[in-house]
Amino acid sequence: MNKKLKRLQRKLSRKYEKQKEGGVNRYKKTKNIIKLECLIRKVHKKIKDIRTNYLHQETAKLVKAKPEFVCMENLNIKGMVKNHKLAKSIQEQTFSEFRRIIEYKCKWNNIRFIVADKYYPSSKTCSECGYILDKLSLSTRKWICPECGVIHDRDVNAAINLMKYGKSA
Ligand SMILES: [Zn+2]
Repeated sequence: MNKKLKRLQRKLSRKYEKQKEGGVNRYKKTKNIIKLECLIRKVHKKIKDIRTNYLHQETAKLVKAKPEFVCMENLNIKGMVKNHKLAKSIQEQTFSEFRRIIEYKCKWNNIRFIVADKYYPSSKTCSECGYILDKLSLSTRKWICPECGVIHDRDVNAAINLMKYGKSA
């Protein structure tokens, strides 16, 4: 879907580009351009629908598991999106949408919803011994605790910490 969108957008800009070459001062919306723009809007909507659908499915799964609570991290998405690799996978919009949905679904199902403090170092803390790293770059997916030697998967470790956080909240 994203590829299709890109292709259409390229096609559209080529059409505008062509007008420029033809020495047009003001762009004219030809029938073809209008058609193309309409198609692009449709693809945009389709992508959005797929995303929303996915979020509803995933949040439904979470709620269905009847957890005692859901503890979520207050991620600094803006900071993460600056990191190029993450820009594609995490979009601010999707994240806040996810949070909105899981929050109300928890409410409906009497599940406690907890948001961890923004500065809580969920990734940098060793879930085994509590040691806190000074730094952990976003690209580091696995790390070894210098204190107790346990090997951590970044996300699993953060999830365990958030579970602990939620339990004590
Ligand atoms: Zn440790």
